[in-house]
Amino acid sequence: MVQEKKYKIATIGSHSALQILKGAKDEGFETICICLKGRDEPYRNFKVADKIYVIDDYKELFTLQDELIKENAIIVPHASFIAYMGVKKTESIKVAYFGNKKILEWESNRNIERDWLRNAGLKVPKLFDDPKMIDRPVITKFHGAGGGKGYFIAKNYDDWKEKMKAYKGEQDYVIQEYIVGVPCYIHYFYSPLTDEIEVLGFDKRYESNVDSLGRISARDQIALPKIDPSYVIVGNIPLVLRESLLPQVFKMGRAVVEESKKLCPPGLFGPFCLECVITPDTEIVCFEISARIVAGTNPYVNGSPYTWLKYNEPMSTGRRIAREIKLAIQKGELKKVVQ
Ligand code: ATP
Repeated sequence: MVQEKKYKIATIGSHSALQILKGAKDEGFETICICLKGRDEPYRNFKVADKIYVIDDYKELFTLQDELIKENAIIVPHASFIAYMGVKKTESIKVAYFGNKKILEWESNRNIERDWLRNAGLKVPKLFDDPKMIDRPVITKFHGAGGGKGYFIAKNYDDWKEKMKAYKGEQDYVIQEYIVGVPCYIHYFYSPLTDEIEVLGFDKRYESNVDSLGRISARDQIALPKIDPSYVIVGNIPLVLRESLLPQVFKMGRAVVEESKKLCPPGLFGPFCLECVITPDTEIVCFEISARIVAGTNPYVNGSPYTWLKYNEPMSTGRRIAREIKLAIQKGELKKVVQ
């Protein structure tokens, strides 16, 4: 029997589960999808799951644990997984888990995350703890805003104070320098088995309503009832980067991984994403890191131009995860990638 046949790849039905499960099947694993009632249709319809557990509440995942362990399941987390379960609950999961759980704490704490990126030598937007110090355009982000809802841009302190009136009582926010440029989300993979950094692809997000404002002329925007930009994600658009930026992209990925090894061994591994804005001077400014698969990899179920260059076969991020798990099993090093 092929060794990996003993294991099953499991995830929650949302975010990038189609890609994770399809990739796992392509690598020869059986798959399990855990879905909320009413959300199981895509996973049945696209036939990516060998088994589907339908639950009423994500808390039920804990009661399923023993069953999942018996099935030799390996959970692959994604952003919705962490959002639904919460960091503390995810940390306490007993089922085998792909990734370094210690990173969760890091990434969910804005200050630690910022230090991590800065210590890795990345350019990050300036933060304003005191709004009176605002001396350039800023974006105010509310924690747990659910996809950038309510984020607003202000040009100076007076403008900020005026706009904040709509958010009376809100305490949990950051005021960040607004970087004028184009957004670019960089998809990486780091393998602790081969010590290689891979660039799997790029995307930009399609956000409502900010991505439609350019379709309304400034004259009409002024004439219409007040429109506040929001950044609610509705999809992802594939992107290929100017080739001369790639050396910097590889360097940034490596630096973030090396820094993470110092901060919480064995450090960050598997897929991760640097969320950046690229300025007209081609400076890449990173405003956030996601330490796992991002939904921006979903356009590449059949691989991206970069994974095609490297693998010469369809290789999504989901499949790359499954390949890593398979390699680890074959080398007898599963403990290196699963906790
Ligand atoms: P996530 O889902 O990745 O945790 P989010 O959806 O809550 O985050 P962000 O990704 O932080 O929100 O930002 C939402 C939008 O605001 C994106 O379009 C991003 O490009 C833009 N943005 C965020 N920070 C900055 C910044 N400092 N300068 C310019 N644009 C920014």
